[in-house]
Amino acid sequence: MHLRARWLVPVGRPPIEHGWLRIEHGRIAAIGQQRTPADLNGCRPVDLGDAILCPGLVNAHTHLEFSDLEQPLDAEGGLPGWIARVVAIRRARPTDAEGARLTSSLRAGLTESLGHGVTTIGDIATGIPPEGYPPIGPRVRVYREALGLSFRGQSPPAAVTRDLDRLGSAGGISPHAPYTVSSRLGRVLLDDARRRDLPVTMHLAESLAELAFVTGSGGALRDLLAALGAWPADRPAPVLPPSEWIARLARSRRGSVVHGTFLGEPPDSSANERLARHRDRLGLVVCPRTTRLLSGRLPPVERFLAAGLRVAIGTDSRASNPDLSVLAEARELVGSGIVSPGAALAMMTRDAAWALAYEHRAGSIAVGRPADLVVLGPSGPFSDPLDAILRPDTRVLATLRQGRVLHGSLAAG
Ligand SMILES: [Zn+2]
Repeated sequence: MHLRARWLVPVGRPPIEHGWLRIEHGRIAAIGQQRTPADLNGCRPVDLGDAILCPGLVNAHTHLEFSDLEQPLDAEGGLPGWIARVVAIRRARPTDAEGARLTSSLRAGLTESLGHGVTTIGDIATGIPPEGYPPIGPRVRVYREALGLSFRGQSPPAAVTRDLDRLGSAGGISPHAPYTVSSRLGRVLLDDARRRDLPVTMHLAESLAELAFVTGSGGALRDLLAALGAWPADRPAPVLPPSEWIARLARSRRGSVVHGTFLGEPPDSSANERLARHRDRLGLVVCPRTTRLLSGRLPPVERFLAAGLRVAIGTDSRASNPDLSVLAEARELVGSGIVSPGAALAMMTRDAAWALAYEHRAGSIAVGRPADLVVLGPSGPFSDPLDAILRPDTRVLATLRQGRVLHGSLAAG
């Protein structure tokens, strides 16, 4: 297939006006500008008109298991209140129907993602359906999540080991968060990630309540954990502050810190510098709409970028977000003047792929890469393609994975 478009935006090199690319066997075989080569090498030419052709978008952090929720949960009470509602939903699910529900939720989330131009996903999974993830499109890095404050084992829980064995090189490991993972469980999980050479990710410094709890002053999260029966309130907390987790995550070959909204707040003031020291291995993933919902602010992206960190965009789940659109997340940041459209595009392509350790397969258009692409259609005239990508009325016309159209149509351009 030979695609032509008014703009080809490869990421990692400047946009190409009147660009074209050729797809052979699901991969990008050639890229060029202006004149279509006389020899199309037997490829079918498709003219996308005024459309913008970009690398398939990358959602660096979501929880597809909640993709069956119609709308986000109530945010009353901030993170502790929201967590109580998530746990209530989990506990109310009938266990005998959970496998089928999970599969249908994953299917809904993967299908929705294609509709938003997303071809690569970092998913946090508390379990894997017996038949695996539905093979319907996006490439998924599945981070097996684990949590527990009273763990006593020497190796990861059996269910985690079983899932990681099944996931193979598409797996990853996620200790959930400092307030739900004991120091010991974290050590066992991260040792296993190193042994398997898998990337890691962890929610860190998401709320002030988390910092209060893990630095020993109790508060709403400890009360919540005690009420849920997840915390033996009579014993000292076997937990660690974010700065300690950063040092541990940095022993893996690749990792990401999710949220980081309150990173560096006293008394855990060294967390920012420590993260910056490990920027060759650790990146940040921000979920702007979720942070605004649960913390009343947008993530401090400027501070992360000034520290030289790679910052990626994720949507978090449908439990805190109305949809799984990374474009909508990026628009929050651009609309608030926090980043430029070009920076936002890197955050939902190149740097998100890096966070997932998929930088050689996703996040940019380059010869030899899989032809994972999104075709975007701005509704009116435009001169700057980067600006046009982030306009609220720009539509996803088609999403391609390995050269196959999995959403929309190439005729629409
Ligand atoms: Zn999350």
